[in-house]
Amino acid sequence: QADKNVVLHVADVSKSFGGLQALSDIDLEVEEGKTHAIIGPNGAGKSTLLNVIVGRLAPSRGAVVFDGKVLTGKKPYQINQLGVARVFQTPEIFPDLSVLQNVMVPAFAKRDGAFRVNIARALDFEDGIEAEAEEILRDVDLFERRHSHAGALSRGDKRRMELAMCLIQHPRLLLLDEPTAGMSRHDTNTTIELLKKIKARGMTKVIIEHDMHVVFSLADRISVLSGGRIIAEGTPDEVRGSEKVQEAYLGG
Ligand code: ADP
Ligand code: MG
Repeated sequence: QADKNVVLHVADVSKSFGGLQALSDIDLEVEEGKTHAIIGPNGAGKSTLLNVIVGRLAPSRGAVVFDGKVLTGKKPYQINQLGVARVFQTPEIFPDLSVLQNVMVPAFAKRDGAFRVNIARALDFEDGIEAEAEEILRDVDLFERRHSHAGALSRGDKRRMELAMCLIQHPRLLLLDEPTAGMSRHDTNTTIELLKKIKARGMTKVIIEHDMHVVFSLADRISVLSGGRIIAEGTPDEVRGSEKVQEAYLGG
């Protein structure tokens, strides 16, 4: 449709690791302001797709276009500076810094335009960053723990802290790889509520999930990946009713 405002286009992307074809002819369009989930069984290629989008992996074929700019060939920090932030499956944090400091570092990095962050400088940098970091920590329910060592947080808390590290960058596109993986039911529910709050703010999100139930209440659109191919795409209701999807999950 002409009125569709596509902000991210994964155009005919394939990726192989030696003889293993991890992604085959992936074509994916994500609309501005929407939450687009990519679901599929373990080994389907979800993390590989995310890594191609953020520039950690070069596709064997095809390209990724964000906001009219070709991302393919750019470095991860350059892609980040174009407004793409991501939460990886394994949190990447500064374990020896406090929670608050962890959240301040990316804000400084963005402002400075540097991809190698001088942490000492970042933490001296006032100008409202600390206040904003505290506000975001309230949003993710970590304010009380702001002075704890990040390395001492539970797995669920670390993931929420990493989300806060993304939010302070005010990205246009937020990519999340299994944001509730390894979380307790309580933490999972808190995180889903938090993601709904972010959705209300209009940020475009791509959520990668193994657990179908997590995304049904969040996603505007779902693409189902299996064996490196998109086997179904549609609204949550359309995808839920798809026989192909049931098969992929039972077979996977
Ligand atoms: P998912 O995130 O859906 O569980 P992945 O994208 O991690 O799946 O993996 C897709 C396939 O690609 C799997 O068969 C996996 O073993 C393989 N794979 C992923 N990364 C690499 C790599 N760096 N080298 C070789 N094979 C890989
Ligand atoms: Mg994965």
